[in-house]
Amino acid sequence: MAQPNLSVIHGKKTDYNTVPEKSSSTIIKRVEKQKFFQLDKTTLTELTNRLHSYIEINMLIGAFSDEVKPILELDDLSYKLPGDETPIKNKGRHYISYNLSFNKENLGELFFIRRYRFVEKEAEIIEKLIIALLSPIYNAYKFYEVSQLAQTDPLTGTLNRMGLEKSFSREIDLAHRNKTDLSVLLFDIDHFKLINDYYGHHTGDLVLQEMTKQINQCIRTTDVFARFGGEEFIVLLNNTSRSGALLLAERIRQQIESTHLNIDNNKIQYTTSIGVTSIQDRDDKESIFKRADSALYQAKNNGRNRVVLN
Ligand code: GH3
Ligand code: MG
Ligand code: MG
Repeated sequence: MAQPNLSVIHGKKTDYNTVPEKSSSTIIKRVEKQKFFQLDKTTLTELTNRLHSYIEINMLIGAFSDEVKPILELDDLSYKLPGDETPIKNKGRHYISYNLSFNKENLGELFFIRRYRFVEKEAEIIEKLIIALLSPIYNAYKFYEVSQLAQTDPLTGTLNRMGLEKSFSREIDLAHRNKTDLSVLLFDIDHFKLINDYYGHHTGDLVLQEMTKQINQCIRTTDVFARFGGEEFIVLLNNTSRSGALLLAERIRQQIESTHLNIDNNKIQYTTSIGVTSIQDRDDKESIFKRADSALYQAKNNGRNRVVLN
């Protein structure tokens, strides 16, 4: 595969003064003692080659961090994917950050974090090290994008079944390990076949997108939301009790019931049935899903457009 050949790096911020600094001259003396001043072309190429063996982005950052932490006496090295707005945890320490971009593509932001200030000479070293990282991180980011795409439902933008599998296992493990609540909401649109039959498949698709929007408005960004069948959706609510999940399900149900969609001069209303359950000791993916599914089945049997807790 041909390698993109343009690389651009922008330095951004250094700062924060909560900890007494070492004087710049002390740092420079230390810096000059470091062998990293002999970061010649061969050393950097070797570093790039080592980093190329990591295709998973977090593993790559971990490996890069292991290489640079001792050189720069870093406390931490942190990476943010493009679009990630969460603040970094620098705990008042100094940091220097770089927006990474390769072949004109944004690859995220890298934070070098330390208790004492960075000096100009160190910035030069950091930039050399980042150049060694650029092509491995470009490949890892492409790999990340492709795997994200493979886990996303193209119609609604939610996770698909494959994406759900991974998150479901993780959520169950976390809930058991931390002894926290985990609740499941299972949705199935009522008489969806009739919507397709009356208004056409395209309108059916728009209803699925609207349903996604309605659910997204009611859940937290940390909840797992997936479309796992035609008109079937699932939400995993971490740290949410049975009663909390029931309230939320009822709120979503009512919101959907009172929504009127205007599509091609047709006023469309639709409803959903929802099965709700919460994690029990020794639950695995299959057992918790089975309970939610049986609640959903009851909701359908009892007349649809309702929530059943199991
Ligand atoms: P129930 O209340 O029992 O759930 O009835 P239903 O009609 O919703 O259930 P059924 O399983 O009979 O029909 C589901 C329909 O969903 C049939 C299928 O054509 C439609 N469907 C599945 N995927 C899509 C999609 O991506 N877009 C559209 N427009 N329709 C879809
Ligand atoms: Mg169905
Ligand atoms: Mg249905």
